[in-house]
Amino acid sequence: MKKINAALILLLAVLFVTIPYFYDKSKVRQGRKLEYVRLYNHADGKIYKLPLEEYLVGVVAAEMPAAFPLDALKAQAVAARTYIVKRLSVGVENPAHPGADICDDCRHGQAWVSREELKERWGAIEYYKYYYKVKKAVDETAGQVITYKGELVDPVYHSSCGGRGTENSGDVWQVNLPYLRAVPCPYCADPEPVRRVSFTLADVGRALGADPAGRPGGVSRAVSDTARDIGVIEKTSTGRPKTVRAGESVVPAVTVRERLGLRSTDFTVQVEGGGITFTTTGYGHAVGMCQYGAKGMAEHGYGCRTIIGHYYSGAEITNMKILTPP
Ligand SMILES: [Zn+2]
Ligand SMILES: [Zn+2]
Repeated sequence: MKKINAALILLLAVLFVTIPYFYDKSKVRQGRKLEYVRLYNHADGKIYKLPLEEYLVGVVAAEMPAAFPLDALKAQAVAARTYIVKRLSVGVENPAHPGADICDDCRHGQAWVSREELKERWGAIEYYKYYYKVKKAVDETAGQVITYKGELVDPVYHSSCGGRGTENSGDVWQVNLPYLRAVPCPYCADPEPVRRVSFTLADVGRALGADPAGRPGGVSRAVSDTARDIGVIEKTSTGRPKTVRAGESVVPAVTVRERLGLRSTDFTVQVEGGGITFTTTGYGHAVGMCQYGAKGMAEHGYGCRTIIGHYYSGAEITNMKILTPP
């Protein structure tokens, strides 16, 4: 993993800002204690210094519904802690926000919400119930992080795999990490995994036809013809579209998802008249922990440790004190 080409990693980090934060060890800032987080808040443009565990309560509340079972919230807390500890331990400042370690926007890292926002979102009564439930999940996992062979993992997660199971990271981001492998999701509890969304052929053609990664020529055809001539040409090991042909263009399914704002790459396409309908299953990139799968596992009596071990193959929960010698 250490040997993964740094340029490739940086390129990927730029291309996929919402996915794992691969780090460049040349930028390590030594001596930083892992006690607090310097958080840039987009709402007021200020940087707040929060104790690590307090910051995590705001992350778990932002990233997973607080109504989920406690063990699913605990798994989320461990993943969120791993993510921020990995960033803090290498001391890389957030490139978008100098002076901060992280911000509250999920597109720049992981989401975070303040207690005031949670009060508004939940109302006074639910606030006390949910806030302390999330806090309990963070407290009961205090100091716990996910490691693979002694190193912190990139603890990526997604909302729902739709029941198909998770993906190999290499099928989605071209980087194969041994702990981000396709695993079944036997208790995926997404109540509404299948969704439909329609576009005009012209919109889809414009979005996919002029792809620079595809073969030239796509742009010379009518944009509607490009969209009409759409088809999956390669699938992942789990059966999701991996590469799509649209007219003369060959486009990764992740690009189709990104450009059209689809919920997932697990889609089928139907062309009808001047329109095109995508039917998607699941929500998110399908790599790492499936949050609705974690909910289902917790509802079936599985604990946080089992959930983490299931979605991060060969990884384990480690107490941070073991990682950071005195
Ligand atoms: Zn930001
Ligand atoms: Zn799932």
